[in-house]
Amino acid sequence: MSGKAKPFATPLTAAEQIDFQGKIPSWVIEAANILREHGKAVYLVGGAVRDLLWGEIPSDWDLATDALPEEVEGIFSKTLPTGKRFGTITVEAAGHQLQITTLREDLGYSDGRRPDQVSFGSDIVNDLARRDFTINAVAYDFSRRLLIDPFGGRKDCRRRIIRSVGDPALRFREDGLRMFRFYRLLAVHDLKPERKTEKAIDPELAKSISYERIRDEFSKLLLGKAVREGLNGLAKSGLLTKIIPEFFPPDRTQSGLYSYLRGHSFAAAAAIRPSLHLRLAALLHDIAKPVSMTVTDTGVHFYGHDQKGAELSGEILKRLRYPGRLIAKVSLLIRWHMFFYQPNISDAAVRRLIAKVGGENIPDLLELRRADIIATGRISSETMEYWKELSERIRAFLQPGAEMKKAYQLAVNGHDLIKRLGLNPGPLIGEIIAHLSEQILEEPDLNREELLLNLAQKYLESKLR
Ligand code: ATP
Ligand code: MG
Repeated sequence: MSGKAKPFATPLTAAEQIDFQGKIPSWVIEAANILREHGKAVYLVGGAVRDLLWGEIPSDWDLATDALPEEVEGIFSKTLPTGKRFGTITVEAAGHQLQITTLREDLGYSDGRRPDQVSFGSDIVNDLARRDFTINAVAYDFSRRLLIDPFGGRKDCRRRIIRSVGDPALRFREDGLRMFRFYRLLAVHDLKPERKTEKAIDPELAKSISYERIRDEFSKLLLGKAVREGLNGLAKSGLLTKIIPEFFPPDRTQSGLYSYLRGHSFAAAAAIRPSLHLRLAALLHDIAKPVSMTVTDTGVHFYGHDQKGAELSGEILKRLRYPGRLIAKVSLLIRWHMFFYQPNISDAAVRRLIAKVGGENIPDLLELRRADIIATGRISSETMEYWKELSERIRAFLQPGAEMKKAYQLAVNGHDLIKRLGLNPGPLIGEIIAHLSEQILEEPDLNREELLLNLAQKYLESKLR
């Protein structure tokens, strides 16, 4: 598309007296006053106004002004040109950061991602018109204490509806990321989709958007309170095929299995604590079930789906450019999510699980198991009792000074073996260490230097026999 995008012929301006002054922190008011003293118009814009209308506390504060970026830099002493080309200067005020953006209008989008050009100095209504959704297109005028609401954002806030500003098909064609923002905002703020806006979503328009930008919206969606609705929306609209195509069958024959997989995975993601690595682990824990499925005379099995799932989720998250440390954590949780537990398993088996997974990952693994149990819908008091009992047993092992701590680190190392037993460095040392580690998992009291050297000696003798 070239030329100027004009979603509205003439936007109607509605203004309403409102007083937010008491709800805005003093350092924001202060910055607004400084701009006003310089004869500039200044408005609170974006998510902050929306959050105030909901009676929530905004996470960040954005101001819009008719001052040009250079003027903003001249007016404030501490500034960073974070998005200067698009008019945004970050100002540091009383230890906080504030984004101040020159009122602008976007002129044409030819790549479906960014405006080709922006023009500064237009009025507040034009500035609101370029914004994505009506709930985000409301401004607060500091000097007149007025709410400027040309697109019915306040009403949509009240009814908790997410609707595009202007023709949704046009707005999504301008910038395909808005489709992902639609479900992100819906999930984070628990909103209802406006039908026409949702219908205009077209996965083909996501082509030119980078994985990084999609991933950022996806991560926020996953942390939302209505994560299940958000994921269902992504799946139904086809956008999820652009993020995780592994959730869809290669052909129609397996559509039932995949539909079950999505339902269970989304439910697990909703049931787990809202922390990014946990939500991703819950979402992807069964992702390899379809490719691991075998049918034998004993029934349908998914052997190895935990191991395959750890690999596959690693590939998926790498493709989405998530950081390596997060990927490693998620893969590890998926790798061990099938750990076996029954109340009568031995202490040694519990210790072996802890040694395999790492004590620091145990709380997350238990949380994943809890979400998995809830998502299967087969929560019996028995399964939850098992879960509680195992949690208690593991906690006891991991307490400072408890036996597991003792079993964690061997009281001897390779050097000790070489020095005390007169051995040469080589693979045999590693073999002895592995043998000793196994022994102390069975019997933590053996973890004392002299006893271990004795055991090592015996092991050597048994090998020589
Ligand atoms: P959050 O609470 O996550 O900060 P937010 O609504 O402030 O939510 P931001 O991503 O910080 O979201 O964007 C700030 C404002 O900029 C939005 O409220 C919206 O008005 C506008 N905006 C952001 N991205 C787009 C976009 N792709 N197209 C149009 N307007 C956008
Ligand atoms: Mg914001």
